[in-house]
Amino acid sequence: MTAIETYIKHFVKLNRSPGAVWSELTKRKAPHKPILLLAVIDLIHRGVITSPFIAVTGDLIELNELFNLYWRRIIPHGQASSIAFPFSRLDREPFWKLVSKPGSTTTQAVINSTSSVTYLRRYALGAKIDEELFHILQNENGRDVLRETLLQSCFSQEAAMSLREQSVINREAFAYSRILEESSHLPLTMEIPGKDNFRPVARDQGFRRIVIKAYDHRCALCGVRIITPEQRTVVDAAHIVPWSTSHNDDIRNGMALCKLCHWAFDYGMLGVTDNYKVVTSRQIGADSNAPGFLQTLVGRGIIAPADQDLWPAPQYLAEHRKEWRL
Ligand SMILES: [Zn+2]
Repeated sequence: MTAIETYIKHFVKLNRSPGAVWSELTKRKAPHKPILLLAVIDLIHRGVITSPFIAVTGDLIELNELFNLYWRRIIPHGQASSIAFPFSRLDREPFWKLVSKPGSTTTQAVINSTSSVTYLRRYALGAKIDEELFHILQNENGRDVLRETLLQSCFSQEAAMSLREQSVINREAFAYSRILEESSHLPLTMEIPGKDNFRPVARDQGFRRIVIKAYDHRCALCGVRIITPEQRTVVDAAHIVPWSTSHNDDIRNGMALCKLCHWAFDYGMLGVTDNYKVVTSRQIGADSNAPGFLQTLVGRGIIAPADQDLWPAPQYLAEHRKEWRL
């Protein structure tokens, strides 16, 4: 048996618990493990996972985002899950081994009670996958074969189609984010090359990926940086001049903003001067119900990316201020 055949066999036989809550879409079994593996395959393609060891100690935001994109495709709204479920339980498969923290032992009982990333981190450093499997997944053909194996053995035809589409979108989003990264060195007036070949959902994901990465999950205006224990980030990728009028995903037309700053910026209550100081609308000062917190930002410098090439372009900031008379 060749190496890839061995993993095809393991993926087909993936141990998944049956349950009344799971529909025909997932062949009446829990979908966590194959969905996590689809996300892992994407991250190997993206070069985010660069060795056979997947750490739980660093940030798992991208893994969690991809897991949730797949999950939401086929699981009814309101039925959430944590990546900690499959991350721990995959230990029962021959190709995935949890690596315990020094001094802690990983028993079946510990694995069985893992339902949050916080809990997982108490005893595990991460997971080690077979070198050979990692090697296969570094190659596009290997990824395609094993992805298809998961789709066909764990899901109905209808669900497989939907997840396959999501995996294409994820790859497209990654390609788009790479183009955006490279375009940040082009003159501002240049169009993003090939922009129109990308679907809106892939563009959104690609723009979000690159902006949030540049700002390292920190709100450019108020500086808040929160990553929940379940690895959700507080920031959105905001357009300075809205996409609807600019069709411009240049990273210099973007900022990572927390929900409140995003909303306040989009509605012209906050703006940024050409020398990167926060300004607010008069309305905020006059309205006693407006959060005082927004007023405290006036005159403060924004928190821009470390790489100066990625800073917001003054001409877009000016356009935004003009629109809202700031
Ligand atoms: Zn903020």
